[in-house]
Amino acid sequence: MDRIERVLVITAHPDDSEFGAAGTVAKLVRDGCEVTYVIVTNGSKGSSDRWMTSERLIRIREEEQRNAARTLGVERVQFLGYEDGEVEDTRDLRRDVSREIRRWRPDLVICQSPNRSYNLGASHRDHRTVGGVVLDCVYPLARDHLAFPELLPDYEPHKVREIYVMQWENPQLVVDISDVMDIKIKALACHASQFRDFAGLETRVRERAAVLGKAKGHAYAEAFDHIEMQR
Ligand SMILES: [Zn+2]
Repeated sequence: MDRIERVLVITAHPDDSEFGAAGTVAKLVRDGCEVTYVIVTNGSKGSSDRWMTSERLIRIREEEQRNAARTLGVERVQFLGYEDGEVEDTRDLRRDVSREIRRWRPDLVICQSPNRSYNLGASHRDHRTVGGVVLDCVYPLARDHLAFPELLPDYEPHKVREIYVMQWENPQLVVDISDVMDIKIKALACHASQFRDFAGLETRVRERAAVLGKAKGHAYAEAFDHIEMQR
């Protein structure tokens, strides 16, 4: 099979890709892949500090996300600036995501699950909406030249080869992240505005990664569904 060279991780909020895929991203970077992050929302709602303003929080979370990306060796981070908590599946969002796929021309796209589960944090409304939009953009919107004619001639159609969909229940793909688990924790720690008790969070993240790895005999894992596109 052809080598994966370019990877695009598209998520709803700053910190989503660290929770779901930081270990996998660190391994892809180590293997020589060029990884780009696209963050759809501005993260303006994620604070329990009653003195925090959305304006200040947006700046803090952008900085935190850039630091986390740097920790993992991610090449660049793009923010689409949609309102946190209010993402809808609109033509504008589908065009913007299609444009980023055409711009960065990834072999592999990593995204969130479009499905509701009773893990309310993981299946946050924005995650489901963005996950569904990303899949719609991989096929057919980024691929077809007649979709979003306004993107031409700057953004030529692009065919993505594979998709990893972040997934915890009966995943198709379990990635061994044992030797990069410490980097994942370091990247997560960059999102300081999101955690009051990072030690407690680290314990929970390690426990979950251990559960995911158990069936395959890995100390720690991340898990995905795996879609391979027809050529
Ligand atoms: Zn999120």
